[in-house]
Amino acid sequence: MELSDIQTLKTDVNSRQFDEMTGVLNKQTIRDLGHELTAPGADSRFYFCMLDIDHFKSVNDTFGHACGDDVIIDVAHILKDCVGEYGKVGRVGGDEFMLILDKVSQKPHLREILSAIRETVENKYRRFKDAIDITVSICAALYPTYAVDFDNLFELTDKMLYLAKSKGRNRYIIYTPEIHGDMNGIVKVENVTAVDSGDQEDKLRLMLKLFEDFLVNATSKVQDAMELILRAYDLDEVAIFTDGLEKSSFCVKRVNKEGDRYDVVDDSMSMNFLATETFQRRINVNHVAFINVFDLSKDSGAEIKEYMEHQGYHHMLVYQFNKNGKTGYVVFISARENSRRQSMVESNDLIYFSRMFELRRG
Ligand code: GH3
Ligand code: MG
Repeated sequence: MELSDIQTLKTDVNSRQFDEMTGVLNKQTIRDLGHELTAPGADSRFYFCMLDIDHFKSVNDTFGHACGDDVIIDVAHILKDCVGEYGKVGRVGGDEFMLILDKVSQKPHLREILSAIRETVENKYRRFKDAIDITVSICAALYPTYAVDFDNLFELTDKMLYLAKSKGRNRYIIYTPEIHGDMNGIVKVENVTAVDSGDQEDKLRLMLKLFEDFLVNATSKVQDAMELILRAYDLDEVAIFTDGLEKSSFCVKRVNKEGDRYDVVDDSMSMNFLATETFQRRINVNHVAFINVFDLSKDSGAEIKEYMEHQGYHHMLVYQFNKNGKTGYVVFISARENSRRQSMVESNDLIYFSRMFELRRG
């Protein structure tokens, strides 16, 4: 063969595999890969993600089609960079991409990649041409835990992407039956409270790491530890009161529901009701109170109910401690509407973390 023939052959193979405009895999190739990985007996496990650029039509309309093309190309490059060796990226529609992350086995790692993508796009295009923000919506689901085959997986993520868009875009959502319900009729929600075992391993690792960094080496900041816990347990807020209940000493909050941004907040609200007799009666022998807003009645906890409803809280785990003669509290909060009750395992973990905060010097 002549050198030029080899060149032609290469170009031919490339054009059959790759999307010409962006250089990532084309629709056919990434779909074939998805089918291959989900074929009977393939024995694979991977996170499947769909991504779509938000309000992309207005980019075209405002700045022209060519400029829109540049944005698509940039997003494709960001995807390639963020995914790296952990999976494959394909373009499946105008502004739509598919990711198959077969080298990602743990949820925190997935979160890291998805949040890097979301942030990189957001930062790159903040006030794009001084006019608009360009962002992306992403969704992910774990195969084979939550889907039986590729079509089923695709349907599921399609619904999740719709959810991400309807919740306000610029976010990623990882399908979790306990939060989103049974979306494709195959998940028995009551059977998956333990989620996948990888999740438990992550949490154990986080716990061991925090105990070491936080208690032994004292290298970790309180707020950093709080944020890691919120992320791992998918909670919305944590506050620590060491000096009265008017103002928390530390507070970290999720910025928007389902989002991945957590902020340290200084001007946290007071929780005076923790000192009331009605509340104190709820604290058990282990110094813990579990509060589910739906369990509170008018007589047993009107004040607490009112407070939680006003704040949009659904579950609280409150740990009471005594330090230097002062009473303190650690409060973990979940604001999920249809969240299940915290599983026993998770509650225990949160109690260990509370104890860790209690034991920290200073
Ligand atoms: P949403 O946030 O709901 O996703 O809104 P959107 O405007 O992004 O809506 P949608 O994803 O449905 O629209 C994608 C648009 O992308 C439609 C089409 O005009 C445009 N498009 C499709 N292919 C290309 C392309 O190759 N280049 C450019 N510049 N635009 C494209
Ligand atoms: Mg779009």
